[in-house]
Amino acid sequence: MRQAWRSRRWPGGQRGGGLARVLAAGLAAASLALLVAVPAQGSAATPAGGLAMPGQHGSGQHGLHQDGRAQAPRTVVSLTFDDGDADQMAAARVLRHYRLPATFYIITGAVGTPGYVTRSDLRELAADGNEIGGHTVSHLRLTALTTAEARRQVCGSRSILARWGYQATSFAYPGGADSPRTEAIVRGCGYTSARGVVGLRAPGCPGCALTESIPPGHPLVLRTAGEVDSSWTLRDLERTVTAAERQGGWLPLVFHHVCGGSHCGGLAVRATMLDAFARWLVQRERHGTAVRTMGEVIGGQRAARPAPRVAPAVPHGIVNPSLESAAVSGAVSASLETTSASPANTPRCWMEAGYGANTAQWQRTRDSHSGHWAERLTITSYHSGDAKLLPQFDLGECSLPVQPGRSYTLGSWYQSTARTQYSVYYRTSTGRWVYWTSSPYLPASPGWAQARWATPPVPAGASGLSFGLSLFSTGSLTTDSYSFAVIPPDATRRMVDWILVAIAAAAGLIVAARAVRRRWRPANPVPAEGKRVSSSSSSR
Ligand SMILES: [Zn+2]
Repeated sequence: MRQAWRSRRWPGGQRGGGLARVLAAGLAAASLALLVAVPAQGSAATPAGGLAMPGQHGSGQHGLHQDGRAQAPRTVVSLTFDDGDADQMAAARVLRHYRLPATFYIITGAVGTPGYVTRSDLRELAADGNEIGGHTVSHLRLTALTTAEARRQVCGSRSILARWGYQATSFAYPGGADSPRTEAIVRGCGYTSARGVVGLRAPGCPGCALTESIPPGHPLVLRTAGEVDSSWTLRDLERTVTAAERQGGWLPLVFHHVCGGSHCGGLAVRATMLDAFARWLVQRERHGTAVRTMGEVIGGQRAARPAPRVAPAVPHGIVNPSLESAAVSGAVSASLETTSASPANTPRCWMEAGYGANTAQWQRTRDSHSGHWAERLTITSYHSGDAKLLPQFDLGECSLPVQPGRSYTLGSWYQSTARTQYSVYYRTSTGRWVYWTSSPYLPASPGWAQARWATPPVPAGASGLSFGLSLFSTGSLTTDSYSFAVIPPDATRRMVDWILVAIAAAAGLIVAARAVRRRWRPANPVPAEGKRVSSSSSSR
């Protein structure tokens, strides 16, 4: 625990040295029992005196100082940022200015995609002393997933972060959705803490508890003072902290987008307000309040074991191919981190996708090709982009496991007032989904028409596929009865065999032709040769 607290500015951020980890492990047991005083490291963000673990109930912990000179921070504030939105780099600049550390919970599959941080941003965050935490691979509500997929999401995120050099031990539930089952999964993957999005006193929850205790009673269900969004004022932030100071303990705060100028979404805070809050927060040191990352507060458990290897999804066909069952989607809206925000009437395992400037509306319809339901997409105004129904971007519960080099047949039935085409996406080894290719155009069809298309061989490195018929104009497109099948390897192999035979035959002919030419030269002294060539020639 001591080492973890000290390490808040170690070079490389998450990359605690082997010595640090050994020390942390060695000290963990003792410090858990003693809650010892820990010297601050003299940054501007921390008081010059020593620090002790603050207690939930102030006086109950004061007697635990190792020596008399240490002044304990009674209150610890953790600034946490969810999703790894690209605009959070503005928050990072504010934090760097005030030398405050924060925890950034990263969706690994989003890193490097438009609107999210890049690998280079992550290095910058870590170098500043911030903590890199996990927020799953695909940002799906864990409680809506099978246990196998939830493990792939949680363990996978930790493994990918480790591959990038970050030994993540702090986790945040997408949409704050957790259950005893997901807590067990998070623990099994080696995370030592997990944070929700509600539970402590905030403008939205006046009756909630003021703080978490340190150490927390339930480190895998850490509460927060709601989510700081555009409705919060600087005064709200300050009041939340001063209320926590009355009791002492741990106050994790959750931020999402950081905005400047006039364009501020609902789940955003202004960079100027964050700056004012940071300036104010630094001065709260006088009142025994310190700012620490989540991992620093959890402390000695940092020396967590690596995430266990989780088997990839086994190949399967389309899940819910006739769109018969609807469910609350596992997707967590990236702009509104709540469990109630996503559509409740989306076909299970499918997502309503699209990009660009257009107005897409979705409707389950009885006008089906098979079963009782189909899905109708209507675009009422169109400027750019497209919209389509796709198997959920995940690690294989809904999306389609594939093998590089194999080709697949995509199928579905459709009715459309406009032309359409298949749009195909694949998943990389870090869980990132990228556009791959599109089929030729398919014509508008007033009645049900079948759309079948064989993909090119899947690119190297791809492990999953998702596809759908897209609408890229105003109009209406109804789809149903999806299918997906690997093109039999036998057929592929037979094709390869024929190609090899053809190449061998061509090579043989060339060799033979050269031999003939050589032996037919006039300078050839052997008279008998002419006969052989002649016979060879006549045999053709
Ligand atoms: Zn999130």
